[in-house]
This record gives sequence, structure tokens and C-alpha cells, in this order.
Amino acid sequence: MDFETRAIHVGQEPDPATGAVTTPIYQTSTYAQEAVGVHKGYDYARVANPTRTALEECLASLENAVFGHAFSSGLGAATTIMHLVNPGERLVCVNDVYGGMYRMFSEVYEPKGYFFDYVTPDEVSTNLAAHLDERTRMVWIESPTNPLLNVVDIRAAAAAAHAAGALLVVDNTFATPYLQRPLELGADLVMHSTTKYLGGHSDVLGGALVGRDETHPLFAKVRAAQAIGGAVPSPFECWLTHRGIRTLPWRVRAQTDNAKRVAEFLEAHRKVEAVHYPGLRSHHAYDVAKRQMSAPGAMLSFQIRGGRDAAVGVSNRLKLIIRATSLGGTESLIEHRQSVEGPDTLAPENLLRMSVGLEHPDDIVDDLDQALR
Ligand SMILES: *Cc1c(COP(=O)(O)O)cnc(C)c1O
Repeated sequence: MDFETRAIHVGQEPDPATGAVTTPIYQTSTYAQEAVGVHKGYDYARVANPTRTALEECLASLENAVFGHAFSSGLGAATTIMHLVNPGERLVCVNDVYGGMYRMFSEVYEPKGYFFDYVTPDEVSTNLAAHLDERTRMVWIESPTNPLLNVVDIRAAAAAAHAAGALLVVDNTFATPYLQRPLELGADLVMHSTTKYLGGHSDVLGGALVGRDETHPLFAKVRAAQAIGGAVPSPFECWLTHRGIRTLPWRVRAQTDNAKRVAEFLEAHRKVEAVHYPGLRSHHAYDVAKRQMSAPGAMLSFQIRGGRDAAVGVSNRLKLIIRATSLGGTESLIEHRQSVEGPDTLAPENLLRMSVGLEHPDDIVDDLDQALR
């Protein structure tokens, strides 16, 4: 079955009890046992819930993976990964990482004796081996990165990580499994904030961890860490996320078309200093993006001539595009990333990040045009 079909059917067999076409919301915390220890595969909802199982099967299938686990948020998934790392061990991380990850690493884990090194995206792609040693347990990357839309060569990163005995984790939130499947490029674990494109409607928080097969040493550990750590989504959140996934490929395809149009408009505009979008030939890793992604996606960022005030002014004049954090919904969102991330960010002061939505592209471009005037 192809991607579009799996997005609709995997995990969503009509309910055997009633024929319900949509997976029911099993709003229960516990399950009756026929006799002591005899049950139908479910004993307590933190460990498993049928609405969650349906979503998890679908998540795995979209990454061509065998196991998928759903979490209460992207950062809940990330915390669960950190249960697999011990104090004294090292993580090497792409420096242009999601701000929330950087805060988690620097404020929670560094003080406990975990070691982090931050490496530029180009250095991860071409020279990762030089940054790894025997204490390095994990390499953590995003591609494309947030908010600069840098692209990391996932295949090269996987080879270097494995040669040093480290695991490669890829945050695939920006690309989505429709455009990029890191497990096929050698990654060990894929993480998602399903809050973004997978949920797709700005109405639910969630996270996911997806891994290649049951023989991988991480399989049992991730499953145990999910049940023991407890950062699980409610049945309703699973249902909403699964509902969003049904239209994922169609949304991402149309949003990517809109983003290409916006990127070209911005690149030609005299008030725009730079556009960061992997679909533009001017992008530093255009060829790598072309090789590992089936299309460049719907996230982009751009820099306005005239510094911070000019960028904030453009954002404040927008009428249709909504000023809000987050991404991946049906509506276009824009954000002055430095205001969100604070002083540690790599985001330049004149940078705006945009999640291009499903509105008519003429309306999106018109709004940017009037705001840039
Ligand atoms: C939003 C986001 C996260 C965090 O996910 P939450 O669902 O907000 O916890 C992690 N990585 C990336 C790239 C994100 O955009």
C-alpha cells in the first residue's frame, strides 16, 4: 500500500464490535480481567489503550518502521529518549536545534552531569566523526532545522555515529514522514512533535518515537520507558492526531506548493535580505535536501532589511497570516523567533519564521506584499 492509503487505513480497521468506521475513543483507565491476569491485551491505560494502539500502528507504518510510540507532547517523547542515556555520557547535537530541546538539555540534563556538544549543520554533514568519542552515546539532529532551515545529511550522520558506537536520533517534525524517512537513511530512532504536521490542525499536543524493528536494542527500552515514564497522550488526543494523519500527504503537498510560491516571492523582494528554504537553489544544501527529501516542505524563514524593528514591523502589519508560535496547521503562522527563544538563540534579530498554510497562495502573497510595503 502506498503512503496515502496507509495514512487512512493502517490501525483503522472498522471496529470489530460495532462496525464503527472510525476508531472509537476508548475513554477508560483500566480493563476488566476474566480471571486473575487473563485479559485481552490491555490491563491499564498508561501501558496501552486501543485508541493509542491504532495511532501507534499508523505512525510506525508512515515511517516504514515496525514500532511506533505516542506521547503527550514532542518534549514528552524527548524526555523518554533521555531515559536511555546515563549521566557522564555525551550527546552531540546539531547547534541549530529546536529551542525547547536546547532548554531541556542545558537546564535539566547538563546540571545532572550529562555532556552536550553543539556542532554546526555543515560540520555534522561532513565531519561528524571528529566530534565523537567513546563516551558519545547519542547524536541528535533535526533536518530541516528550526528556525534556520538548515539541512543535515542524515545518511552521512548515521554512518559517522554508528562507526563511533553512537545512536542517531532524528527529529523529523519539519519534514514529516511524507517527505523524509530518516530510518531508511540509517537513523536509529525518529522523533516527532505530532502537535505540528501530523495532527495538522493546531488543536492537539502530541509526540512520537518511531524505530526500525523489534530486534533493535532500543525497541524494548523505548516501550518500557513509555509505560514507566508515563508521558502518554489521552485517548481523545490520540484520536485527534490520527484523524489529522488521514489527510497528511494532501496537506503537505499543497502547503509545499504554497511555500515554494512564497519563497520565490520573498527572494525577489528588495526589502528581504535572505530567504532560508531548502527548495531554493540558493540554499546551502539544496542538493542534500533534494537527495533525502521528496519535496522541500512548507516551513521557511526570511530576514528583513533594517534589523529587528523592521522585521517586527512586517509581522505586526500582517492581516491574514497569524502571529503565533507553532507550525504545521492549516493556517499560515509567522513568528519573530528571537523574541520567543531569548538571548541564546542563533536566530538573527531580523528573522521571521513562517509556517505556510493551506489558504489560497494569492492571499498569502498579497498579505506579505502589503506588510512589506
Ligand atoms: C514543536 C517542536 C518540538 C516540541 O514538541 P512539543 O509537541 O511542543 O512538545 C520539538 N521539535 C521540533 C522541531 C518542534 O517544532
